[in-house]
Amino acid sequence: MRELEERILRDGKVYAGDVLKVDGFLNHQLDPALFRRMGEEWRRRFADQGVNKLLTLEASGIGIAAIAGEVFGCPVLFAKKSRTRNIAGSVYTAQVESYTHGQVYTILCSKEYLLPTDRVLLLDDFLANGNAMMGLLDLCRQAGAAVVGAGVAVEKAYQPGGERLRGQGVRVESLARILAMSPEEGITLAPDPA
Ligand code: 5GP
Repeated sequence: MRELEERILRDGKVYAGDVLKVDGFLNHQLDPALFRRMGEEWRRRFADQGVNKLLTLEASGIGIAAIAGEVFGCPVLFAKKSRTRNIAGSVYTAQVESYTHGQVYTILCSKEYLLPTDRVLLLDDFLANGNAMMGLLDLCRQAGAAVVGAGVAVEKAYQPGGERLRGQGVRVESLARILAMSPEEGITLAPDPA
């Protein structure tokens, strides 16, 4: 998606440790008009898939997913991050290793809101090693919900997350794909297929 790519090149900052900072429009200050167009692009790509729920992870996925949910006209569920290990039976839980901190944490969502009849589109801001998305996929599988695919704003295509998800049969639609990045050389994007 050209607008997102241009924004990444203009405002993104590459930090050591393979972290792209996009705090000006995606992760701290948010650009709702851009989010709306991202939502429209995912809706175009997942048209006719019968999506009836979006699932993301707190915190940085929520803004993107909330606006996409309005575009799709469906509810948005976000998995919560919990530090508690002993959780009662009314929730699905999965373990996720954090990209930025390395710690393993539990994510959870209520059984009341993730149903076997759901056709779920997973959404997140970044796809790196794929742990966050695999955790969301795990929640859906426990619920017996169908996963129609994963919508990602920024896929770091040189990291294994995309392959892991596609290897699980998940259709991944990324709006921008980074082929390489470093503080010295900057950002190299994959050509926009659109
Ligand atoms: P994964 O689980 O795929 O390794 O990482 C995805 C999660 O880590 C995303 O939810 C995102 O919050 C965070 N993340 C991964 N890489 C980056 C990055 O380069 N920049 C930022 N801002 N967040 C990232």
